[in-house]
Amino acid sequence: MNKDDNDKAYEVLLKRIQTNLGDTAKKSAARLEVPVPQVMWVGQRTIFRNFMEFPKALRREPEKILLYLNKELASAGYIAGERVIFLGRKEPSSFSALIDRYIKDYVICPVCQSPDTRTEKTKKLGFLHCEACGARSSIKATYA
Ligand SMILES: [Zn+2]
Repeated sequence: MNKDDNDKAYEVLLKRIQTNLGDTAKKSAARLEVPVPQVMWVGQRTIFRNFMEFPKALRREPEKILLYLNKELASAGYIAGERVIFLGRKEPSSFSALIDRYIKDYVICPVCQSPDTRTEKTKKLGFLHCEACGARSSIKATYA
């Protein structure tokens, strides 16, 4: 191989890498598939039937998401298998909105909008650490 060929090979390689990177970025943004909350009333209780799908989809601990829901709903729901049971009748339609807000505040990176994030807690401070762009944003420590 002479120098020109080498340069050409390098260019091809570079182009291939850039193309792949582009694909990865697109995929990660589309990868957050949020389930639809299935909420129903049974007597004076509100059952969030598919709660356990959310920790998996959002890559968060179930307890953190539950903490958030309990705070926002002023309730003391508890996990029972795949479900969460809240005392009292909570408006079923409010659950989608709460989950959306949780995702916006505690899952999506505010810098690059990637859902590939993890939370971390250091000295009572909460952070959202983005695995896509490396940004570290502060969040409420309660949910970190
Ligand atoms: Zn980011």
